Amino acid sequence: MDACLNIQDQLAAEIEQRREDLVLLTQELIRIPTINPPGAFYRDICAFLDARLGSKGFQTQLIRAEGAPGDSEAYPRWNIIARREGKTSGECVHFNSHIDVVEAGEGWTEDPFGGALKDGKIYGRGACDMKGGLAASIIAAEVFIELVQDFSGAIEISGTADEESGGYGGVAYLAGKGFFSPERVQHVIIPEPLHKDRICLGHRGGWWAEIETKGEIAHGSMPFLGDCAVRHMGAVLDAFESELYPALSSRHTAMPVVPEGARVSTMNINSIHGGQEEIPSVSTALPSHCVPDSCRIVIDRRYLIEETHEGVKAEVESLLSGLKQNRPKFDYSMRELNHVAPSMTDRDAPVVSTVAGAIQSVLGKGADFVASPGSYDQKHIDRIGKLKNCIAYGPGLLELAHKPDEYVDVEDMIDSAKVMALSLLKLLGPDREG
Ligand SMILES: [Zn+2]
Repeated sequence: MDACLNIQDQLAAEIEQRREDLVLLTQELIRIPTINPPGAFYRDICAFLDARLGSKGFQTQLIRAEGAPGDSEAYPRWNIIARREGKTSGECVHFNSHIDVVEAGEGWTEDPFGGALKDGKIYGRGACDMKGGLAASIIAAEVFIELVQDFSGAIEISGTADEESGGYGGVAYLAGKGFFSPERVQHVIIPEPLHKDRICLGHRGGWWAEIETKGEIAHGSMPFLGDCAVRHMGAVLDAFESELYPALSSRHTAMPVVPEGARVSTMNINSIHGGQEEIPSVSTALPSHCVPDSCRIVIDRRYLIEETHEGVKAEVESLLSGLKQNRPKFDYSMRELNHVAPSMTDRDAPVVSTVAGAIQSVLGKGADFVASPGSYDQKHIDRIGKLKNCIAYGPGLLELAHKPDEYVDVEDMIDSAKVMALSLLKLLGPDREG
């Protein structure tokens, strides 16, 4: 036990020593503008990570998700998986970070791809979501490998594409190829910016669909000769307000979703369009007089782990078909656009208790357990990879993700790296638990 504590202190001290390296690594990652869409510079960031991790004894594989959504010659979907074997056989701990960032958008006072360091914070698009987390996991693994040379099992670090657009050219593709199978990998930590003292156990489900109401075109001066698809859609929206929304907000989940407002079922109406196409604002033309024969909405329904995909669909279907009773001409179609199942790792799963113990040791406080309102790559690791022992844990504040002047706090990265290194010690070190 004493020997273990000793190593723990050494790991923490060595991570402090590498503060400059951690800052520089984060800055270098931010300066590669891997904006998605379109999915730019994936090859460049993979080459950068390849050089870095290859020089530290990792065996690396660069994998292009050929044929995945978004993959093209102009914007190939490159991923990297780096693996460092231990001295003896054992379990594998995998750190998975997405390499893509969303567009910078307006309102920055810092260069979004400059990586400026000011008052202990590094600024840039992707600083917290999630190049800071990627850098922290690299430093944690490098320090652990140097100080605990007789570790067992393996450490993997991956940089994967397209998380911001669903992960199909990244983790989903790799999971389909067996890279996240439980025979190969036993523990997964995704360093998304959930904050250094919080463990994210999973996320809600999502179901996206397009609903179209149909009508009949006619002259706008004689609407009774046609059938207005927009009025039909109005009836749909009325039914949402009077029946669906009250039902959704009455359903509570046992998952510790933050913010708390997302502990009920929710639905966003993403877009609405009816009738002829909108006239461009530069045009001076007036609209022609027509009864619209089509109106479409896209809905974004986030559902709870206590609900089912089938139930969520059936609820909307029955509401739509019920409208026919009072609107004999009501005609509609519904098309699923995408579906993501909810995912929730057990509170007593090994990776959860290990990281929680490391948080207690490093920060001197108990870990908070949370779940995410929106999904992240855990969905693919769970559903395609069949690996249940997965969490999100990393530095940075989720509230800053995708915002102007996004930053990551260097002290938070240092603390998270200590938690990650200590977790490696507990899972792969000579006095490992279990
Ligand atoms: Zn992210």
